[in-house]
Amino acid sequence: MNVHESEKIAGILRGLGYEETKTIENADIILFNTCCIRENAENHAFGNIGALKKMKKQNPNLLIAVGGCMTQEKGKTEILKKKFPFIDIMFGALNFENLAELIKRKKEQKKKVVEIRETAGEIVETIEPYRTSYPNAWVNITYGCDNFCSYCIVPYVRGRERSRKAENIIAEVQKLVNEGYKEITLLGQNVNSYGKDGNAGMNFAQLLDAVAQIEGKFRLRFMTSHPKDFTEEVVKVMEKHPKICKLVHLPVQSGSNRILQLMNRRYTREKYLDEIKFLKARLPQAEVTTDIIVGFPTETEEDYLQTEALVKEVDFASAFTFVYSPRQGTKASTMDGQIPETVQKDRIMRLVELVNTLTRQKSEKYIGKEVEILCEDYDEKKGLYLGRDELGRMGYFHSEKDCIGEFVTLKITKANGISLFGERVKK
Ligand code: SAH
Ligand code: SF4
Repeated sequence: MNVHESEKIAGILRGLGYEETKTIENADIILFNTCCIRENAENHAFGNIGALKKMKKQNPNLLIAVGGCMTQEKGKTEILKKKFPFIDIMFGALNFENLAELIKRKKEQKKKVVEIRETAGEIVETIEPYRTSYPNAWVNITYGCDNFCSYCIVPYVRGRERSRKAENIIAEVQKLVNEGYKEITLLGQNVNSYGKDGNAGMNFAQLLDAVAQIEGKFRLRFMTSHPKDFTEEVVKVMEKHPKICKLVHLPVQSGSNRILQLMNRRYTREKYLDEIKFLKARLPQAEVTTDIIVGFPTETEEDYLQTEALVKEVDFASAFTFVYSPRQGTKASTMDGQIPETVQKDRIMRLVELVNTLTRQKSEKYIGKEVEILCEDYDEKKGLYLGRDELGRMGYFHSEKDCIGEFVTLKITKANGISLFGERVKK
């Protein structure tokens, strides 16, 4: 989501006449779109901003701007100002659309420009993103989040959930398909609650159905699905349209009902498993990916083992695994029973090992099979093209000519972890 927001910011900068540079020393402006979801994301941002001190001294005309979730956090701009007095512009995640004006203002005055808004304004539909991920394109359907999972900072820094009007989303996808994009991903913190603010004119299943009716060969994906709102209606729409990839990113976070309740996730392990059962009954080829947090306050070994058991039962295609990171202002950060780092580390290592084993086993099943992948890049180091199949698995292959943006059939000859290697099959 932040990557796509950066594409919008890059679009604003291009509108002002700025162009990309490959060497940082040539830059006229350096802008950070920060993330604060976990502490290490924040530490990265601090490190990267700090590293510019010398450059700014040597070139006082260089503009340094910092925006994103971090500046939106309570008290963070003050810390940033103190730590990095050389920052020229600070803007919030809720007002990045205003960036052109802030840059203009900075050029007219010596003083730094700081503008952070507490609440989001109307959705701005006029920004033209500078897309850098052809043949894939991301399309926001909602912004913000209303769920207040007890560990999560997103609702505090991204504001209340807002849905874009369906007609604007459909028009954007149509335009992207006309321009030749081959994979469209609909984005939201909880796509299934699309339209619940009464703004959109339809619910998520209806939107997905409408977007899938756009003509042309392209793949349609969506993320993230929150298990509390994932509906059978959505599965039925997935079944109806070959264009919709049969891969659902359905973050479970924990396999223990006690922890799920403390996390304020509002579903149980049983409901989650029922959803997977329904999905696989209707779409046997479907795969599920997930996010998991270990070391949440009060998590016992028993709770953790329930997560392991659930991972084995679902047999996820892949999983993003995180160590719980306390975030200021969230309910979980003040809970008793914070888990020692050594225990967290031990659990994450065991979980990663388990997830990798499952992924490896799944990859091996691909050997000898044919898969259609959408070629999306060239890996200079490997000297191979790469792309993903419908279920999100990465396939590498050799090609004499540039085939980025083409659907290519591969016969898989080798698997290495999550990556597949194959030979192109002429079709
Ligand atoms: N809206 C999505 C997730 C967005 S954040 C959802 O509800 O599933 C992406 C992932 O980061 C989350 O799924 C969660 O696993 C992880 N995450 C969020 N806050 C975290 C925290 N404080 N510590 C560790 N992981 C966290
Ligand atoms: Fe965070 Fe929960 Fe919202 Fe996801 S649904 S962004 S985890 S509060």
